[in-house]
Amino acid sequence: MSNEGQVLIDRFNRRINYLRISLTDRCNLRCIYCMPPEGERKLRHRDILRYEELLRIARIAIKLGINKIRLTGGEPLIRKGVQDFIPMLAGLSGLDDVSLTTNGVFLKDNLEILRTAGIKRINVSLDSLKRLNFKLITRFDHFNEVWEGIEKARHMGFSPIKINIVVMKGINDNEVLDFARLAIEQPYHIRFIECMPVGLQTNSMAFISNSDIEKTLVTKFGPLMPVSHGRHDGPATRFRFDGGKGEIGFINAISDPFCKGCNRLRLTANGMLLPCLLSNDAVDIKGPLRMGCLDEELIEVFLKAVSLKPQCHPLNLEHDQRVYRKMCSIGG
Ligand code: SAM
Repeated sequence: MSNEGQVLIDRFNRRINYLRISLTDRCNLRCIYCMPPEGERKLRHRDILRYEELLRIARIAIKLGINKIRLTGGEPLIRKGVQDFIPMLAGLSGLDDVSLTTNGVFLKDNLEILRTAGIKRINVSLDSLKRLNFKLITRFDHFNEVWEGIEKARHMGFSPIKINIVVMKGINDNEVLDFARLAIEQPYHIRFIECMPVGLQTNSMAFISNSDIEKTLVTKFGPLMPVSHGRHDGPATRFRFDGGKGEIGFINAISDPFCKGCNRLRLTANGMLLPCLLSNDAVDIKGPLRMGCLDEELIEVFLKAVSLKPQCHPLNLEHDQRVYRKMCSIGG
């Protein structure tokens, strides 16, 4: 059977061309909304997809029209061997874009490798610009390392550098103006993400809507001007302030779900292909892979996962329906 030219299109006519790969379930931070202080139960090494397995899956995905891959975790930069894997992945022909989402703790020392591998776009998750608040949220005192990594990336010419903030009432909502100021003074793309009821998080805890944040920003800094959507844009609606060097983005995960344009699948570190970040469905890809299956069977796994994509994720503020898979295993 030839699968030449086959593409992934779901029941709602959305073309799927983006795969997020979680390299590990482990993380060197314990963000209060993501992991308990003692961490989660770790996957066994043998249950985590090996690099050669990931490369095989990536090749199949590319055959099916995936042209964008983002590495995530856990924390992708703590997985042993990632410095060798990234260039191999980025070197696969057919990929237009390979990028990374990191908490930034080990960013500084990995930037050279990322640049050599041709990676230009970086997402850093950073929920506070204050060392003490950063420690309160992440339970580790690593703000300085993260900030040095971000600044070094800027000096090295990485672009865009997106800084993602999960805003929580009473915890870091008093920093939204500081974050916005960064997008005025520097070319950073600051993106406010609504906290989702996933894993540890419940709706009642800390939710603050992006429309409230937008009002705060506009009152202080004036109107936000829309920026048109680019080819590699995700679910953020993009804006800039007049004269601002960077951008402001809003990811309205709950108040205005972005599912209509969803173009992605997710691969967990233990080899489950997820049709949607916020549903409990998953298709096993590691099982068939380790049974020595043919490429055609892996293609079937992709087709199955795409067929399960829901029209829209099930979460909203009225129904406190939680997703029990952990964000640290899905990769955000
Ligand atoms: N360690 C990497 C990082 O920090 O970017 C990748 C994994 S982390 C789970 C990916 C993203 O998910 C982070 O930006 C984190 O803030 C976000 N995240 C985790 N739990 C969340 C939640 N309940 N609501 C919204 N975002 C969440």
